[in-house]
Amino acid sequence: MALMLLCWMLFEKNKAVLEPVYEAVRQACQAAGREPIPILAISKNQPVDRILPFLKAGHRWFGENRVQEAAGKWPNLRLQCPDLRLHLIGPLQTNKVKQALKLFDVIETVDRPQLVLALAKEWKIERQRTRKILIQVNTGREPQKSGVLREKLAILIDLCHTHSLPLTGLMCIPPAHEDPAPHFQLLADLAHTHNLSDLSMGMSSDYPVAIAHGASWIRLGTAFWPPI
Ligand SMILES: *Cc1c(COP(=O)(O)O)cnc(C)c1O
Repeated sequence: MALMLLCWMLFEKNKAVLEPVYEAVRQACQAAGREPIPILAISKNQPVDRILPFLKAGHRWFGENRVQEAAGKWPNLRLQCPDLRLHLIGPLQTNKVKQALKLFDVIETVDRPQLVLALAKEWKIERQRTRKILIQVNTGREPQKSGVLREKLAILIDLCHTHSLPLTGLMCIPPAHEDPAPHFQLLADLAHTHNLSDLSMGMSSDYPVAIAHGASWIRLGTAFWPPI
């Protein structure tokens, strides 16, 4: 009995971590006239003991930006929580493709032909975890940022189709100090043009705008884990 009470108290406490963020996202969806959308908790740089409360509270969608870091944290967490879902949201090197296919349910950051070829070469659906991929678009044309430029997008999409990769959408990170709205609109337009349904866009500072522009899911880091 005491143990049950303790478990219940822990669950409630863990839920309290998530509830304010869930509620803010619900409100943003409502303001945009949309049903609630999934939230990826971006757990990069977060140790396992700061992720566990999220799992205990029932959160299941997560994102990491480095293959190596994810490999150290997530295989164990998956044993405890087989139904969790992990997205790769950072750049992928071709020599890490094999590892990435075993770790991530979704790879959001395909951005160049060699990477498509490397994915196609290693793709073995029955022996990997990855079920779909997205292409990252460099909507702000920032030289330091990964992502394909919009004029090269069609070629990359064709290459994915040629190799029968399950490409379902697009992802972007707008320039830090610009109005994100035109970037989200551009991403939505490009996805529409190419018949792609998933839009990964919106972070802690701009997710209401992304939701208003049709985000399929948002990626929140600091909203969940404020910098100490
Ligand atoms: C870190 C990161 C996020 C989360 O950003 P916050 O501003 O902390 O919400 C989202 N997307 C990508 C690609 C990231 O690297």
